[in-house]
Formats: sequence, C-alpha cells, structure tokens
Amino acid sequence: MSDSTPHEHGLRQTGSFTTDQLGKHVASDEHSLSVGADGPIVLHDSYVVEKLAAFDRERVPERVVHAKGSGAFGELDITEDVSRYTKAAVFQPGTKTPMLARFSTVAGELGSPDTWRDPRGFSLKFYTTEGNLDIVGNNTPVFFVRDGIKFPDFIHSQKRLPGSGLRDNTMQWDFWTQSPESAHQVTYLMGPRGIPKSYRHMNGYGSHTYQWVNEHGARFWIKYHFIADQGVEGLTDEAAKKIAGEDADAHRRDLHQAIENGDFPSWTLYVQVMPYEDAKDYRFNPFDVTKTISKKDYPRIKVGKFTLNQNPLNHFAQIEQAAFSPGNTVPGVEISPDKMLMTRVFSYPDTHRHRIGPNFADLPVNFPYRADQNSYSHDGPMRYSFKHPNQPVHAPNTTGGPVAGGEKAADELRWESDGDMLRAAATLHSEDDDFGQAGTLFREVFSAEEKAQTVENIAAHVGDVSDEAIQERAFQYWEHVDTDLGMRVRTAVARRRD
Ligand code: NDP
Repeated sequence: MSDSTPHEHGLRQTGSFTTDQLGKHVASDEHSLSVGADGPIVLHDSYVVEKLAAFDRERVPERVVHAKGSGAFGELDITEDVSRYTKAAVFQPGTKTPMLARFSTVAGELGSPDTWRDPRGFSLKFYTTEGNLDIVGNNTPVFFVRDGIKFPDFIHSQKRLPGSGLRDNTMQWDFWTQSPESAHQVTYLMGPRGIPKSYRHMNGYGSHTYQWVNEHGARFWIKYHFIADQGVEGLTDEAAKKIAGEDADAHRRDLHQAIENGDFPSWTLYVQVMPYEDAKDYRFNPFDVTKTISKKDYPRIKVGKFTLNQNPLNHFAQIEQAAFSPGNTVPGVEISPDKMLMTRVFSYPDTHRHRIGPNFADLPVNFPYRADQNSYSHDGPMRYSFKHPNQPVHAPNTTGGPVAGGEKAADELRWESDGDMLRAAATLHSEDDDFGQAGTLFREVFSAEEKAQTVENIAAHVGDVSDEAIQERAFQYWEHVDTDLGMRVRTAVARRRD
C-alpha cells in the first residue's frame, strides 16, 4: 500500500536550472556543442543526444480503438445498501472510493475530432481496498457484435481503406448489413444520442452483464448504469461538423474547464439485478451484448454516485498510460459468459503490455495503491516496485511467502454449460432476434422529432455508399428494424440523390 494517490504520485518539483535526465546542470538549451560556431556537432555532446533520443521516443503506440481519450479523477460514494447482492467492499453503504474516468471516441485516431458520430468509451477505475475494479463500458447499453472474433473485422471496417487511407461508408455498411446483430447499436448510433453534446452529457453503461456475489455466496447477474446528473444531450450532424472544424478537442476542453471551474460533473450509479436462475430462460439472452435487459422486467436499483473533481496533472502519464481491463474485478464482482466480454478480458491487458510494457500495472495511475499487491510476477522492462529481499520468488514455498486463496480470493465466474466443443451462436432465448430491440428503440423510445432526425442521419450516411448492392442491403436492414423506418430511409436517400 502507498500513501500518495495516483493523482499526485510522480509529480516533480521544478528547480531553477535545466538538468539532463540524471540531474546534471546543462550548459545550454539553445546551442549544441560544435567544432567552431559553423562546424559539425560533436557526438560527445551527450545532452543534445539525450534530448533528441528522448524526443524520438515520446509516443507510445496509440490504442487501435479508443485512441483519443480524456479523463479526470474523482470519487465514488455509495449512498444505498446493496449488500444483499454483493460483498464487494467498494459497494458497501457509506464507502467512498477514489477513482479515475477516461472517456473516448472509438474509431478516430489520437488527434481526431471529439464530435464525430461514434459511440463513446466510458472507462472507470476504482482504487478499492481489495484491488482495482475497472468497469470498461460505453455511452450505449449495447454493442455492434456479440462475439469478439468479429471485433477486428468490425474495427477495420470503421477505420481506413488500405489504399487511399480514407474512411469509407461503403465498407462500414458492407460489414453492418452482413452482421444483423449490429442493428440495435447502429440504431442507437444514428439516433439522437449518436453524438453527445459533451462527455458530461452522456450516460455510461457497463454494457455487458456481470456477476455479483454476496457474503453468503448467492450469485446475481447485474448491469451497471451511470446516469448523467447533467442530463443527456446530443448534437445534430450539422452542429457536430461545425464544432469538429472549429475545435477538434471540444469535449476534452469542456470536461477540463468544467472541473477547473469547480462545476464537477457527476453520474448516479444504478444496477439492474437478475437472480442467477432467471438467466436460463429470460426472454433475451442476458449474455448477448447486442441486447439490453428490459427495465420493465428488472428495474434499476440506485447504488450511489460518482463525481469527477480533479483534472489530471499530466495527460500522458495519467490518461494516455491509464490501462483499463474489464477483467480487473474484486471479490463480490465477476464477469459473465458473454463472448464479447471474455475476449475483451484477454485483449485489454494484451494491448497494455504491447503499448506500455509488461509492467504497466507498476505505473502510479494503474497501481492498486489501496490494496496489498503480493504477486509472484517480477522483473521485466521498467520494473519499479519490488519485494523485500527475503521474500521467496516461487510458489508454493516453505519460507513464508504469500499463499493463494483465503476469504478475499477471487470468486470466479460460476455458470453451467456442457456439450461438444463447437463454433456456434449461443442458444436462442424466446425473443432473441437481431432486429427486435432496435425496432423497440425506434418505435417506442424515440419521439416523432427524434425519428425524423434519425432518418436524416441514416440517409446522409447510407447516401455515401458507392456500391448499389450494399446500399440496397442497407435499405433492407432498416426495413427489418422497422418497415416505416426502412421506407423513409429509402425515400430520403432518393431525395438527396435528386
Ligand atoms: P424503458 O422504457 O424502461 O427504457 C427506455 C430507455 O431508453 C430510457 O430509460 C432511456 O435510457 C433510453 N432512451 C430514452 N431516450 C433515448 C434516446 N433518444 N436514444 C436512446 N435511448 C434513449 O424500456 P426497456 O428497458 O424495455 O428498453 C426499451 C429500449 O430502450 C431497448 O430496446 C433499448 O433500445 C433502449 N434502452 C434500454 C436500456 C436498458 O438498459 N434497458 C438503456 C438504454 C436504452 P436511460 O434511462 O438509460 O437514459
């Protein structure tokens, strides 16, 4: 355990004189050492060599997805009693836990505009006394695909063509129309919440179903909802494009300025709780991330609130290097057999090992500073923390080293499944179809004005598809979501063409 928070750890005092990286005062920041004023620079000017070499290495590879992010530190405050559902210390009544949030776009690169139409990442890291708990969700309750094996293809279709290096609507619709499970998320994306007004004006959802375990070992399936206390507001296509041209960092600026001004954004945490046995025959597959669990069946239960009240002191150290994983759970919280979630549990730490290095968890922003960390992993590039020299490096041992197990040991997912090893979609539940919930969203949730806006958003996007067969498939896709919506999209695209 450490005394300093990730917010301040690593902050250096600045002295009056420039030094090199090892503390030696240097002669000049303007002139390299050369043979005469007009002569060549000498190699033994170790300061110019160090300065340029460090500069050449200033970037770590950007994330393939969610590259552009912004974030802040804050606190989670549990105001209600949900102890009958989870024993996790972080969710016990009255508990306050320091945390970090990182919001991001999905497809755009590091410098891309904050206001492109895209879902937003909503990643939370809670520094709990039982280790770090990460909830790595989005501003939408669902996702485009339900099996992580499709994720690289999905992201490729959203990124850039290999030849021209351009983004391409034809490629996007080619993928979506052949992946009908995407319809729910694409409806959300094209709807009024498709471009948030700011990071403060969007909800966050854990998206996947997770498992909670109480102190008696009873298990529940839960969904996290973080409802923005600022209200949910979106941007129109025109407003978003204008902002993108004027200030690509509009959402980063908005979040930063609000916190600087003491106008701290907050989100109220709710959970939907489903008894363990209900999952088997619930009308929707609760482990399919393209579906929501209806609030009519499982209403939300209030848990608490988190508030963001501290800007990062260093964007690179604390936001760019922040490493989240949905697999970072604590006792009382587990994942579910959602195939998309299970692949993310592998892929997120793998990305961090590649981007930042195998010791990414040693960085202050990622370190579980409020819990004991007694891992047998050691060494590797950039290792910072280490054990007492008398501690054994192997387990099991007879020399008093930490032992696995005990009452705080991870609960590990419990679920029943049997059968041959195969490649297949999960068993269908009674109302599992790809278009049903998308249709409900359009018909029953959107207002008449929002429906009209959604039709125009889709038409603008589908109108740019250069391949007629793919465009025709896109019309049919929307007809499957809702017959009236499909017809209106067809008409709107024809009108734009004329
Ligand atoms: P409800 O009527 O209880 O929920 C509808 C929810 O839709 C609202 O609570 C709100 O979520 C969300 N919503 C409201 N306006 C918009 C909008 N313009 N764009 C997108 N979402 C909006 O019914 P159900 O729970 O049965 O869900 C019906 C449909 O609502 C689902 O098919 C799904 O598409 C959508 N939805 C469901 C959520 C869920 O977890 N059950 C969450 C979000 C959307 P919020 O209160 O979170 O702002």
